[in-house]
Amino acid sequence: MEDFSTKGFGTRAIHAGVEPDPSTGAIMTPIYQTSTYVQESPGVNKGYGYARGKNPTREALQANLAALENGKYCVCFSSGVAATDAVLKLLSPGDEVITGDDLYGGTYRLFVNLYEKFGIKFHFVDLTNADNVTAYINANTKLIWAETPTNPTMKIIDIEALAKTAKQYNIIMVADNTFASPYLQNPLNLGADIVMHSVTKYLGGHSDVVMGTLITNDEKLHQQLYFILNSSGANPGPMDSFLVLRGIKTLHLRMERHCQNGRKIAEYLKNHPKIEKVYWPGFPEHPNHEIAKKQMRDFGGMISIVLKDKSVENTFRVASSFKVFSLAESLGGVESLINHPATMTHASIPKAEREKSGVVDNLLRLSVGVEDVEDLIADLEQALA
Ligand SMILES: *Cc1c(COP(=O)(O)O)cnc(C)c1O
Repeated sequence: MEDFSTKGFGTRAIHAGVEPDPSTGAIMTPIYQTSTYVQESPGVNKGYGYARGKNPTREALQANLAALENGKYCVCFSSGVAATDAVLKLLSPGDEVITGDDLYGGTYRLFVNLYEKFGIKFHFVDLTNADNVTAYINANTKLIWAETPTNPTMKIIDIEALAKTAKQYNIIMVADNTFASPYLQNPLNLGADIVMHSVTKYLGGHSDVVMGTLITNDEKLHQQLYFILNSSGANPGPMDSFLVLRGIKTLHLRMERHCQNGRKIAEYLKNHPKIEKVYWPGFPEHPNHEIAKKQMRDFGGMISIVLKDKSVENTFRVASSFKVFSLAESLGGVESLINHPATMTHASIPKAEREKSGVVDNLLRLSVGVEDVEDLIADLEQALA
């Protein structure tokens, strides 16, 4: 297979891991819609036994994703939370995890409502402050789980600093890179052990697939994660793998436009009389702007706003008044979405916990799509009015 590892991001997005089909020359990776593979004699096969373990469409996608994150190995899962679940299965009862206080709601639910009962202990701390991390490290600490930018308050965590601490104490460090996408940020280059993505978001990019992935340079970790995939069976199907391969071919183009539109909209919202606060890491006054500049290529299309009117009624009225933005969970697709975290993506986090991390009832999160920015701004103008 051609080595694209030294090529630019766009070239890797389009070509890495993808070869013309050897039997026909088809330029697009075929959808190998099969559950099993015929063997010549018992144990003699073409490298494929049963499709829970291996599927050529999925393998092409995995090679492509590894190339985009500058990683050697990649395993794909049937959803982002299934990928997170696989990482947690590396742990044993009594182990401890240090993680952020501003997590994706589904990650929080998986940690607290499922894994606490298996004897894993979680510490939710403000990861923007490195001292918070060392204060919680002990002999049982096995995993640091960081999401950056955080969801929805867009805090930026210094991946390199956190990875250095993790290495010092022999702790596995995972970065959930969903919000940035591999176009904006590559955590393995900054020392993380594993990169996780909800492929559902920017990688898929078209709001038509649910998938997750884990990428690493550590062969032993990869073998363990692959064993977990094959043993637990949260594997994605070949059709979904094909759709994501197709989506990724325009990742770099989409991300450029997400970033351009995001910047214009963040600047428009900042001066809006009905808005109290705009969370976007591209503002020089954002408390973690310098780290964002250091570890990200650009600032992305995710923006959160806090309305001046604190009432839930007003927030709901605004959220329901959009004509171009759609009110929906999820993010990272070509179409712009608006979300009310308190009742939607973050509803599984108790109100007190939520509000401590800034997820108040009058906060709305925007996933800025790739439409014409003038139309998006006009839509915001009328909805806020
Ligand atoms: C959506 C999301 C997840 C979960 O992924 P699914 O594909 O929905 O299971 C995890 N982390 C972040 C940051 C997300 O946005």
